[in-house]
Amino acid sequence: MNVKSTSTNPQTYELAIVGGDGIGPEVCGAALQVIKAAVGSNRVLTCIDYEAGADCYTRTGIAFPDETLEGCKKADAILHGAAGLPGVLYPDGTEAGQDFTLQLRMALDLYANVRPIKLYDGVSSALKGRGPGDIDYVIVRENTEGLYASRGGGVVLGDEVATDILMVTRKGVERIVRFAAELARSRNGAPADGVRRVTIVDKSNVLRSFALFRKIADRVMEEYPDIEVDYALTDAMAVYMIERPDTFDVVVTENFVGDLLSDLGAATIGGMGMAAAAEIGDRFGYFQASHGTAPDIAGKGIANPIATILSGAWMLEWLGQKNNDNFLIEAANRIRRSTSSTLISGDALTTDTGGTASTADCVKAIIDSLAHDG
Ligand code: ATP
Repeated sequence: MNVKSTSTNPQTYELAIVGGDGIGPEVCGAALQVIKAAVGSNRVLTCIDYEAGADCYTRTGIAFPDETLEGCKKADAILHGAAGLPGVLYPDGTEAGQDFTLQLRMALDLYANVRPIKLYDGVSSALKGRGPGDIDYVIVRENTEGLYASRGGGVVLGDEVATDILMVTRKGVERIVRFAAELARSRNGAPADGVRRVTIVDKSNVLRSFALFRKIADRVMEEYPDIEVDYALTDAMAVYMIERPDTFDVVVTENFVGDLLSDLGAATIGGMGMAAAAEIGDRFGYFQASHGTAPDIAGKGIANPIATILSGAWMLEWLGQKNNDNFLIEAANRIRRSTSSTLISGDALTTDTGGTASTADCVKAIIDSLAHDG
């Protein structure tokens, strides 16, 4: 968090905007329109655009320019669309555009990747018989270590052998589990029984790294006797998320596992276009939907912007809490209310969620609704 700019003028915030690739700029632009409508002239939001991702790599040979990193560091918060394109690869076969997000997490120590799995009224679940109120939990994905810490560091022997290492550290597990437990304290428990619960998801029956994860997680959870501790093995968790999603409140897990499970969770709440996310450290906050660049629908004007809009609302709330700025917190609540009411009316439902709205229609519906709220 850049305290400098906000302490000299508490009503001015600098946002680093990184649209990225594919549908990234479309959903990012949509979220900004809604944010600006909600904030109006009551706060100065200085939005500075930075480039990063696959297109940037193709044009310049660099996926994550230094200028973008510096801009993100000096901003009060970062809003991102999505980055990376399937065909834009480094010589080692990995996607160049992914570097923005993956390196930023390390550079800003964004250790908590927080992914709410919440089914909104008006949106159908892929799960038979599940309605609003049945699915409302949060996946807290450790974001700076685990398997992805190996990116760019694995051993490759020709085209014959490749290794990547899954890294677990005491510090990393302690802080992510504390984050999850504190989050559980702030919530109302699992929909099924109202019990505040942290579900630890790992593969501790097979891998030593996960066994250590569980051991450290257990120790941390002893500090939280008011929160029920629950366990699930990774593969079983994929089944439980389909069969009994209402029993989860906060789920904490390793980086790669969290990546997989949060996409599965998104499918149960209307798809990737509904899955907001935030990546949070002790100082910085980075806000981006869970989804990627969706090249299959890019440029068609049909991308669902709701996940990024909800991530943007979260950004306002986070900024408001950091700066004791209740106006921003209320602006975030207004965006959530308007999003919710326009999903119920159907005006904000894009084709992926069974409606007919374009990205622009969805944004217009939410902004119109905002005008009638408060
Ligand atoms: P990444 O690995 O970069 O996270 P991904 O491979 O998980 O990306 P996505 O880009 O998230 O893939 O897309 C997965 C599917 O979800 C695609 O069919 C895509 O069209 C769809 N999708 C993703 N985001 C949206 C959205 N905002 N609106 C509509 N459909 C979306």
